[in-house]
Amino acid sequence: MSISIKNITKVYGQQKALNNVSFEISEGEIVGFLGPNGAGKSTMMKIITGYLPQSNGEIKVMGLEMAEDSLELKQQIGYLPEHNPLYLEMYVWEFLEFAANLTGVKNRKERITEVIKLVGLGKEQNKLIESLSKGYRQRVGLAHAILHDPKVLILDEPTTGLDPNQIVDIRNLIREIGKDKTVMLSTHIMQEVEAICSRVIIINEGNIVADKPIENISQVSESHKVVKVQFDKSIDLGKFSAIQDVISVTEVGAFTYEFKTASDKEVRTHIFGLAVELGLVVLELALVEKQLEQVFHDLTQKK
Ligand code: ADP
Repeated sequence: MSISIKNITKVYGQQKALNNVSFEISEGEIVGFLGPNGAGKSTMMKIITGYLPQSNGEIKVMGLEMAEDSLELKQQIGYLPEHNPLYLEMYVWEFLEFAANLTGVKNRKERITEVIKLVGLGKEQNKLIESLSKGYRQRVGLAHAILHDPKVLILDEPTTGLDPNQIVDIRNLIREIGKDKTVMLSTHIMQEVEAICSRVIIINEGNIVADKPIENISQVSESHKVVKVQFDKSIDLGKFSAIQDVISVTEVGAFTYEFKTASDKEVRTHIFGLAVELGLVVLELALVEKQLEQVFHDLTQKK
């Protein structure tokens, strides 16, 4: 197991930021840590990387415990904090050399050259960091995080504040870097998780509310399902609402309606039967898959 989190609680004064959180991440996974602002994402990442102590619970990274093996453990982790702290007055190469010295990177020159190539900073390596765009500064942050070739990468909101082109570039880069690493990245953008991750852990108010492979995410929090039907003309809403097990019928487009039912009920044959009886043509009839965005909203909205 790359990361093993057991019953982690974090309390800041009166504020409980993490409430008995547990999960495990296997080697090679790219996991999206998704939650609204204030959910506890940064706190969890700071605890995993050893920047913050937990109030309770156990953490192991690559089988090592922070309390016992903090130096060795930090060698295994690359961390890109939310507010990527860079020395703006340094040149890119100079900064990476400085960082490589601090972390004791071997074959420094070769490794820096290799990392610069990997993150696409070839043309920028002799520029001042402050002269770079936010997207390129983020590349420097990623280069810094992977310089010592860690097995585990923790990326806190890596694309926040970037423009759409930069977002695509950084996502591609994370995918590339993540090929031979375990990656945990936090975000409040649902599409980010769908674009990069194989699994999503959703956190809300310090509690894990979902933990699923991306392809199964529509199966969480299902209390109802929705069937979308397009007819050839308008329907009598009263008649269709009266079908057994239909909770509601909503018009969502031209002659198109969404039927909401309990998740364990099947109403498609009844809708079709009534349509035939009333002389309506059914042009389309399909179960609407819940998208990640909807699941996220259902699980994290304030009650
Ligand atoms: P996220 O990264 O999901 O936005 P955070 O981990 O930053 O969430 O914050 C979780 C909760 O802990 C929030 O309610 C936040 O206000 C609180 N918090 C975070 N850092 C501190 C701190 N240093 N002192 C007090 N409360 C904090």
